Amino acid sequence: MKRRTFIQNASLSSIGIVAGGTALSCKNENAPKDAVSDPLLIDNSLPLVVATWNVKESTAKAWEVLEKGGSALDAIEQGCRVEEANAEGQSVGIGGLPDRDGNVTLDACIMNAEGDYGAVVYLQNIKHPISVARKVMENTPHVILAGKGAEQFAVSEGFVKEDLLTEASKKAWEEWKKTSEYKPIINIENHDTIGMLAIDKNGDISGGCTTSGLAYKMAGRVGDSPIIGSGLFIDNEIGGATATGLGEEVLKTVGSFLIVELMRQGMTPQKACEEAIGRIVRKKKDFKDFQVGYIAVNKKGEVGSYSIHDGFSKTQYQNGQNLTIASDFYNK
Ligand code: ASP
Repeated sequence: MKRRTFIQNASLSSIGIVAGGTALSCKNENAPKDAVSDPLLIDNSLPLVVATWNVKESTAKAWEVLEKGGSALDAIEQGCRVEEANAEGQSVGIGGLPDRDGNVTLDACIMNAEGDYGAVVYLQNIKHPISVARKVMENTPHVILAGKGAEQFAVSEGFVKEDLLTEASKKAWEEWKKTSEYKPIINIENHDTIGMLAIDKNGDISGGCTTSGLAYKMAGRVGDSPIIGSGLFIDNEIGGATATGLGEEVLKTVGSFLIVELMRQGMTPQKACEEAIGRIVRKKKDFKDFQVGYIAVNKKGEVGSYSIHDGFSKTQYQNGQNLTIASDFYNK
């Protein structure tokens, strides 16, 4: 099932899930129809990969790398590339919904177990920003490249330029232009960043985050996804976290770094995600109007997730099982 059809599948009235050994029950009525609730399917074994939303093909690719003994970093890159190449997905890579001027601009970052980080922001015409981000990390003295410079760098590394605006996304943009009303919509395509966290068999953690950002954003807008500590943070001693949803609110609370630091202080991944959402909803009276979702893992292979509203899910490949799991949420 495509992520965009989540909200049309209001089928689950009650879901009980176990993540990281902690039983949760949530009434996530807008979770994907095939989201599971069987606590026995998940344990804390390694390796593992977990991603925002229901992206089973991406997690399957990452798992393929991990199962063969590959590194968490390779798993992240390969997993994220699957969704970036999916032209039907309108939130990541090719086919991403454009900004209000009709330009598809991509943000991505990657972080490894050594604490190295690479990112691209406002990248155009290159389908795989996650791979360009990795090249920034490995082949430059910098951590972030933006816009034209990022594009030039990508081309110099052998990436091929292509038009990323598909017919479907162009049509959607033309339809949007009739009203030009800019309003983030909860759980619709414009909140479908892929944030992915993996732990390999050596116990090393890496993460990645890739997005076309908010649909119909202002030209030049950059969200949380490529910004270290906001859209993604990894500390190989502790764990990792990544975000999806209204990037502006994640940026203001440095959400992923916050979650890792809360885990450092002893919280489970689940509790840390809940507290990070708490920081947002306590400050923002208008939280009913936007969505933010987090996922996190700790060094033990425990996983947590939490969002402001229902409809958020994660896909977790662990113990040979590739499962989309409805996430618990704040606004019940
Ligand atoms: N967090 C992304 C951004 O603000 C959007 C998303 O998750 O879809 O750019």
